[in-house]
Amino acid sequence: MLNKIRRFWSQFFSKSGSINNQPLNKVSLVVLIVIDIFILVNVFTGLNDISRWYISPLQAYPCYSQWQNYRSQTTTDKDYEIVRSSLFNLINQTTQEQIYQQAEERHLGKVSQTCLQYANYQDQINIPQNQQITQNIEQKQAQVSQFEQSNNNIRAQYDSTLLEKIAGQSREQSINVVGAEKAKQELDQNNRRISTRKQEISNLKTQLVTKPESVSFLAFLQEDSNFNQVEANYQQASFWYPSIQLAFQFLFLVPLILVALLVHNFAQRREYGLISLISWHLLVIFFLPLILKIFEFLQFGVLFRFIFDILSTILGGLLFLVSYVYILLIPVVGFGIIQLFQKVILNTKAQAVRRVQDSRCINCAKKIRQHDTYCPHCGYYQYIECPNCHNLTYKYLSHCHHCGTFQDSSHNHA
Ligand SMILES: [Zn+2]
Ligand SMILES: [Zn+2]
Repeated sequence: MLNKIRRFWSQFFSKSGSINNQPLNKVSLVVLIVIDIFILVNVFTGLNDISRWYISPLQAYPCYSQWQNYRSQTTTDKDYEIVRSSLFNLINQTTQEQIYQQAEERHLGKVSQTCLQYANYQDQINIPQNQQITQNIEQKQAQVSQFEQSNNNIRAQYDSTLLEKIAGQSREQSINVVGAEKAKQELDQNNRRISTRKQEISNLKTQLVTKPESVSFLAFLQEDSNFNQVEANYQQASFWYPSIQLAFQFLFLVPLILVALLVHNFAQRREYGLISLISWHLLVIFFLPLILKIFEFLQFGVLFRFIFDILSTILGGLLFLVSYVYILLIPVVGFGIIQLFQKVILNTKAQAVRRVQDSRCINCAKKIRQHDTYCPHCGYYQYIECPNCHNLTYKYLSHCHHCGTFQDSSHNHA
């Protein structure tokens, strides 16, 4: 097996850097690598774009996270907070419902009807009158923090005034303008102002939350059946989303691979060296992301969950054994991919058969005369001794051309 892999790599690299087994010059190699990088970047950009074509769970259920957050909160202010979140300035007169709906325009799939209803309730709350209420609340909150700030300043001064008194200094010498008594008065006045503002804020909040449009929105939010349905659908969508993305990425790669494969096989049959080389590079570039995606799917996709579930029921608590299974499974998949490559593309035997029929050199594909033992172009030795009749016969061909004995061509590599 190790030998097989080593041969695969050496074939792989000699094929990637030579035309008809003649090594490429350095300039061509550099040009080829630049082309490879350019195409690779584009393939990954395309994969990234196509993976976002199908609507994501967050786009299909845009209300879910806010709703779930609301239901899990226990603060008394949560009703006001969620009503306030519906109030925002409309940009280009686009309502929340329209914003949610826009996800359908550039994506496959539908936005949840319940979430559109949710947005519709929010849009009914979002009127100038209600916006005015929140603006008032914000103003009053700003005033409260202003008073608190000035109280903090007074306290800082008040403490130092006290300290000066203790130290026995006269009032005139003090750098503080505010006397202790005056400071105390202002402090009390500010505290009264703060509690009035806080009461006003609380009244305004109640006013907003008890508006009919707010009441119907909150009733909708508390309805268990609405939320449970959205939650179940969201979780199902999140479960399938990676697999759907992967399926679209496969759809993107498979036609590219097929075209590159067709061109490559055609060019090889006709011995079009340069086209065969470039299509070979394209093939490898398209295959790389495909292999990456296959491994990603094995590790994170639905298949992984499936295997994981089966193994965890069989193995119970010994979940580390799942890693053992994967460590065994992934090399097997990798080996399978290498075998496929060997069979379909790096098929030296099929290439040798074609070249012998064409009376070309088995190694460099240049025309040679029949019975030339060595290629005059590349010096490659074309024959092998038959183990049965000991005459010279073609390398890689399945039968001796003197006695017809079967040759195991896998041992034919000189
Ligand atoms: Zn040759
Ligand atoms: Zn023979």
